[in-house]
Amino acid sequence: MSQKIQWLSLTSEELKAALTELGQPSFRAKQLQKWFCLGAPADEMTNIPKSLRDILTNEDIGILHYPKIVKKQVSSIDGTVKYLFELHDLQLIESVVMKYEHGNTICVSTQAGCRMGCKFCASTLGGKVRDLTAGEILGQIISAQRDFGERISGVVMMGIGEPLDNYDNVMRFLDIVGSPDSLNIGYRHISLSSCGLVDKINRLADEKYPITLSISLHATNDSERDKIMPINSKWNIDALLCACRDYFDKTGRRISFEYTLISGENDSPEQAKKLAELIKKYFRSRPVHVNLIPLNHVDERSFRAGSRADVKTFCDTLNALGVNATVRRRLGPDIDASCGQLRHKANK
Ligand code: SAH
Repeated sequence: MSQKIQWLSLTSEELKAALTELGQPSFRAKQLQKWFCLGAPADEMTNIPKSLRDILTNEDIGILHYPKIVKKQVSSIDGTVKYLFELHDLQLIESVVMKYEHGNTICVSTQAGCRMGCKFCASTLGGKVRDLTAGEILGQIISAQRDFGERISGVVMMGIGEPLDNYDNVMRFLDIVGSPDSLNIGYRHISLSSCGLVDKINRLADEKYPITLSISLHATNDSERDKIMPINSKWNIDALLCACRDYFDKTGRRISFEYTLISGENDSPEQAKKLAELIKKYFRSRPVHVNLIPLNHVDERSFRAGSRADVKTFCDTLNALGVNATVRRRLGPDIDASCGQLRHKANK
């Protein structure tokens, strides 16, 4: 076999084919996938014969590695759990499990580091090291669920990395995670957050996954957005919002915008009005939701968060102008909140 098998990155069909090639019966695929979903090492796989377990642990053939917990922080306030995971090549990534009334949702990383360069973000401080495989994205859910002890039924791709900059692996992850043979998580409970790679948003609109697209907007005009998000010089606000509108028109899925409020930069009531105008201009009566995120302070960055009152005024202004907006509940305020910080500190 020329390339090593990434066991967790295989679809059911590929797993069957790989087993056949290795001289194993294809019915083992379903059994294996059950064990993979439990995060079980080969020696726990009681209904799998030794010959196949030996294949799974043979690193000349393939890699079966679940992200390993190297640090875990539990919020004593709301039960949010943040994990620092180690991958097979010792790269570190983060995931966060959040408890909601409707179930547990995990925020997963899609890359080790990030090359998008947003000026307020911790994930991009060391640049991008590498893309995660589909199995490494899936593995975060598996390892977190094994530790957390409860089913995780929702996924947001809002951890470290830009998911659309790792397009093929993210699509493969979506294919696997929604499969009844794997974790069987419904696409309506999955959202993907992007800083605005327009070519990939257009491609995503043609895929078969009814996931929610969240767009990190963070500014109301190009000169403001250029300053904090380098991607804006490639695809500006007009190109981005046109792509988002097309995404809705093709998929019928409501677009969600993330808007991180940075004190004195983008959080004045005038900017709230401009944001409302912008959204109405492009979306008219189409459903849109604005998710306001009070900035999480990052030591290396000079930006500051505004006061609670500023945040509330911004949110109220949007709602008064007919734009559906909410402030993101601050989960786990007593643990390293925003993604990228744990990894960054550990790497230092
Ligand atoms: N690359 C994707 C997902 C990454 S992060 C994206 O850009 O959407 C998820 C969200 O958190 C994004 O909206 C991102 O802009 C925001 N974010 C990053 N750093 C932040 C910080 N320090 N405080 C608040 N929000 C932040």
